[in-house]
Amino acid sequence: MWRSSDESIISIGEAKQSTVIIGNSFTGTYGVAVTAVKKGKATLSLYDDSSGMVICSFLIKVTDHNFISENVVEPTCTEQGYTTYICECGVSYFADYTEAAGHSYTAVVTDSTCTTRGYTTHTCTTCGHSYKDSYTDKLPHDYTTTVTAPTTKKMGYTTYTCTECGDSYKADYTLAAPTISITRSSGKPKISWKAVTGATKYYIYRSTDGKTYSYLTSTTKTSYTNTGAASGKKYYYKVKAVKVVNGTAVGSAYSNVKSLFTTLAAPTVSITRSSGHPKISWKAVTGATKYNIYRSTDGGKTYKYLTYTTKLSYTNTKATAGKTYYYKVKAVTSATSAATSAYSKAVYIKAK
Ligand SMILES: [Zn+2]
Ligand SMILES: [Zn+2]
Ligand SMILES: [Zn+2]
Repeated sequence: MWRSSDESIISIGEAKQSTVIIGNSFTGTYGVAVTAVKKGKATLSLYDDSSGMVICSFLIKVTDHNFISENVVEPTCTEQGYTTYICECGVSYFADYTEAAGHSYTAVVTDSTCTTRGYTTHTCTTCGHSYKDSYTDKLPHDYTTTVTAPTTKKMGYTTYTCTECGDSYKADYTLAAPTISITRSSGKPKISWKAVTGATKYYIYRSTDGKTYSYLTSTTKTSYTNTGAASGKKYYYKVKAVKVVNGTAVGSAYSNVKSLFTTLAAPTVSITRSSGHPKISWKAVTGATKYNIYRSTDGGKTYKYLTYTTKLSYTNTKATAGKTYYYKVKAVTSATSAATSAYSKAVYIKAK
């Protein structure tokens, strides 16, 4: 049985198992829970239950804890610092709190580009914590332009390329130039072309020397016959495709050039006799370099080529007296046989 000499200093609790070694002559297993109540001294004794003899006793001194500072924790950016005090009995507490140090930020500015916003990065030199703010807007792209001219088949355009990021797009499309062909329509030039994508009309330019062109007319169609062209003249044509942008007509490049020598006017022939021989005459036909003369001896049913002249009259000196001869004339140009005139009206007379 355990007993305290002063229960106000040490109180005895429940007996427990423990090993107690007393000197080197006695070994036993005993145990007891004791509570230190207040400072002071008391004797804790173990009595033999049968004999009431003291088996052993301990002088217990109850004192204050003896705290010593065990561990100083430094403050961080966000946490307080403190010191841990521990008594050799195992009781401990925290004290001597120090303020959190707070972050120590340095700022680095990242400039805006044309693809990303700019911002400022704040980074704590102590703990590495970082955050971004002060965002700035993206910069505009820095475009350079490359113009691709329209061809006869494809629209032209401008390529915009950013020198900073390479962003690229095409815009400002220009009309393709038409490709024209030319044919003869009732002796007059007829020019034709395929519709040009995006065109709303076509401007037609004409030249008589192949060098100086003047605007002739416009059409929304894809052909034009120059019915007002004079006979026996060479005309040159070129065409622009046109679209209207914001109320302003914008034209393509010029088409290729096509030319045509208009069909010569048929001569107006008169007939008389010269020393009894049939003599035919006519006024000069614009563009003519010679005149082909055809003759019929069967009353105007069939004509045969007789001769040609560069003059404006012809006397058929080998005609037979008493016979009636019919004549027709064609105006001819050395420029092209395609422009040869139609026959003049027939004239006839009896040779003498
Ligand atoms: Zn203690
Ligand atoms: Zn920090
Ligand atoms: Zn860019």
